[in-house]
Amino acid sequence: MSSFAYAFRGPRAQPGSAPLSPFPPASGGSPFTASFPISCLVDTTRVTLRAGPLPDALHEAATRAGFDIISRLTDRTRLLIRCRPCGTLLVKRRSVIRDHSPECPACIQIRRAAAASRIGAILIGSDPDHRHYGVFRLACGHIVRRQYYRIERAADGGCSAGCELCREERYEAIARGHDWRLIGPPKSGRTGYRSYRHSCGHLQDVSVGNMRWGDVDCAACGESWTSKPSQLYLFRVDLDPSAVLKLGYSSDPARRLRQQLGIARDTPSRILRTVSVPTGHEAVIREKAAHAYMRRHHPEMILPKSVYGDAINTRTEIYRLAAEPILRRLLDCIAADLPLSSP
Ligand SMILES: [Zn+2]
Ligand SMILES: [Zn+2]
Ligand SMILES: [Zn+2]
Repeated sequence: MSSFAYAFRGPRAQPGSAPLSPFPPASGGSPFTASFPISCLVDTTRVTLRAGPLPDALHEAATRAGFDIISRLTDRTRLLIRCRPCGTLLVKRRSVIRDHSPECPACIQIRRAAAASRIGAILIGSDPDHRHYGVFRLACGHIVRRQYYRIERAADGGCSAGCELCREERYEAIARGHDWRLIGPPKSGRTGYRSYRHSCGHLQDVSVGNMRWGDVDCAACGESWTSKPSQLYLFRVDLDPSAVLKLGYSSDPARRLRQQLGIARDTPSRILRTVSVPTGHEAVIREKAAHAYMRRHHPEMILPKSVYGDAINTRTEIYRLAAEPILRRLLDCIAADLPLSSP
């Protein structure tokens, strides 16, 4: 047996036997015989192996953690160990093997890569500057730096692995729809805000939520949602057990009905009527007047929040279905630019 093979069997002292010799006898020049110490690279770490026995307790601690001790090193504080599941060789401190459970970085990386693949992502590699971060290609094709635990949680269904780059592209598309361009993070650093450039050239921080609805005034040229065209609308929402009406205003009633009122997808709803008004400012005045009219003349038609609860994401402006002819007549008056009065 060559001394090389002997060393890599793992030096384990037999009870009652003499300690293993660190240097087996020279065999007279065989090319397969090496004498200790022998240097080699394990991964990228240079180590020098040496023979010699180790306490059984140390072997047992390594076994419990899923490793085999392969060799002692000339650095007496460390040992060369091998991960049982994946076969990776590691250099670990004796104290870590004895007192803590050593972990195999290859197994950890295999686990992370498997988590990534469950959500359609690919683990490309570790972040060289931060051990908790990896570099991933997400299902959308974007390459991102991401904390491993977020990917693993997403794979376990705990949260989505949403892509920041896709999200910013969505914000950019929304901003374009309102004559703004997304520039980047906000100057103020406030969360939920971005820096946007108006079509007039002015740069301004705007909350993402306000930009979503075009609810933004340019501080330079003064163009605002209140000066843009708007519409009054009448919606019907077929809640269970009874349908209700909503009167309001929006620059985009269809989007308001679909996206902003939090109405469940399977609840039938439709736009009964819209009336265009020249500005958002005028829409606010007309809508307020219509609600005031209803409070004064038809309070019994107003539904309290307790009736529809969270089914519609608004506190007021909800009416009984029986109010439809009254509300339609009010909208007729607004369309004809007439004052709201009793028929
Ligand atoms: Zn391993
Ligand atoms: Zn993406
Ligand atoms: Zn402007």
